[in-house]
Amino acid sequence: MPLDRYLPLVACCLAVGCGQQLAGGPPDDEDGDVGKDDTAEDAGGVDPIVIIGGGVAGLAAAGALGEGVLVEADTVLGGRALWSGGLMHFVGIPDQEAIGVVDSPALAAADWEALTGWPAADGTLRYLEDSAATHERLLELGLSYGLLANEPRTDVQRLLTVTGEGPALVEALAAKVTAAVEVRLETLVEGLVWRDGAVVGVRTADGEIPARAVVIASGGYAGELARLAELAEGEFWEASKHGGAGHALAWAEADDLGVKNLPNIGWLHRHIGVPMGDGKLIGFTYDIAAPWIWVDENGLRFLDETDIESVTLTGPLRAAGDVWAIGPRDAVLAALDEVVRPTAEQAIAVDSTMRCRADASALAELLVLDPEALSQTLGEVAGVESGSLDDPLGRPAESFVPFTGDLCAWRPGDTASKTYGGLMVDEDGRVLNTAGGVVPGLWAVGEAAGMGAPGLAGRYGFDGTLSAVVWSGWRVGDRLASE
Ligand SMILES: Cc1cc2nc3c(=O)[nH]c(=O)nc-3n(C[C@H](O)[C@H](O)[C@H](O)COP(=O)(O)OP(=O)(O)OC[C@H]3O[C@@H](n4cnc5c(N)ncnc54)[C@H](O)[C@@H]3O)c2cc1C
Repeated sequence: MPLDRYLPLVACCLAVGCGQQLAGGPPDDEDGDVGKDDTAEDAGGVDPIVIIGGGVAGLAAAGALGEGVLVEADTVLGGRALWSGGLMHFVGIPDQEAIGVVDSPALAAADWEALTGWPAADGTLRYLEDSAATHERLLELGLSYGLLANEPRTDVQRLLTVTGEGPALVEALAAKVTAAVEVRLETLVEGLVWRDGAVVGVRTADGEIPARAVVIASGGYAGELARLAELAEGEFWEASKHGGAGHALAWAEADDLGVKNLPNIGWLHRHIGVPMGDGKLIGFTYDIAAPWIWVDENGLRFLDETDIESVTLTGPLRAAGDVWAIGPRDAVLAALDEVVRPTAEQAIAVDSTMRCRADASALAELLVLDPEALSQTLGEVAGVESGSLDDPLGRPAESFVPFTGDLCAWRPGDTASKTYGGLMVDEDGRVLNTAGGVVPGLWAVGEAAGMGAPGLAGRYGFDGTLSAVVWSGWRVGDRLASE
């Protein structure tokens, strides 16, 4: 989606006064303090609170705080949510009650390990307990939602999509940022300014902005290919297209800040591990019934392959180790867009990233899989496809195709949609150092803080973490406002 679609948002900010200074010009240097930017100091001479990043976490914090300086590297506010589907996770809300779903923070906490692979931590419990209030506060901003959808793995209806998706969420949060918040677009924070062990400002190319507190809302690291490849094994990594530059982790390394849960990456498998000429992987439309199965290193299926839209696939995929996708050549090629199909045909022709064989036993030999196990798997698939068996993994029979003709195999492509790890924070959102001590003057929210509380998303992550991102921004913004 083109960025300039969101330029009206900036114009709207200007019109409603959501920023007094939209570009960070060179500091006024009248007092000779080279590099120090005094423009941010308020009339009473007290340094402002500086928020780094105008994604939904930073916007929520700025809206709740009602004053301060919001520094955004991009030309627009909104961050990655501008491209997001707006899927959010809620617990114990009236929408559930209205259709007879019994739910509560306690029930969700009991489900947490099944959903995320880790039991609910303290931060998780606070997030769950605040969930209904977060939902209510979003309604008060004028947002509405579609119908409740099931949470993968637990099958409880806890997912709602914001009407208007991510951009509507951004717009609603940005509208709450008052004129008392100075918004500086196109201003990259390069580092934190420290004095006597406390954070007292941020450093930009135009000089330092002194701060009585700094809130890091700079997002996650889904756009950092090298870091992703280092953290998690994936044969074909494709970084998230929009944002996720990982600045918070760079500061953690430079300034001895604690981090947690970094290998928990929100993988999506909308891509086939066959690189196109431009280095991107073959994409396919995820609402089609994928005409293939995935097998683990034992040649066995382990998940419903049509559920590829959900980041909660991360867990089963990790556990499955070395995964292959297998499908009948003709059906696979037919399912691909005509733009990407020639690349797949080329890969098959040179027998490289997509390889085909005449039958299951030849394919098993090629992939070094147990031929009997693979034959048994394909026999079960044939049974489900013909209607004589129920799929034990819950995939609907009508989504299978006959596995006839040449069979092809390839690796699923790994795309990061978000990252669930981040800076260690305490239960109030204060950043902790590597020794576990509170860093004076420093707070973190959103993806930069592992969705607001690193460990909250467990080992596998969950869908709809925008709720946690907004919740954490409000939590810190409210807290700082009350101080
Ligand atoms: C295509 C796509 C679809 C998605 N769909 C969903 C979905 O349906 N549901 C869901 O829950 N999640 C979804 N996500 C993830 C979700 O959008 C993000 O988790 C969320 O928006 C993160 O918000 P944030 O404010 O923490 O970080 P970000 O959105 O990354 O915002 C950080 C902001 O800080 C700025 N910044 C970073 N570093 C600096 C710096 N040094 N100086 C100044 N500014 C800086 C960035 O420019 C950015 O604007 C999706 C993501 C993508 C890409």
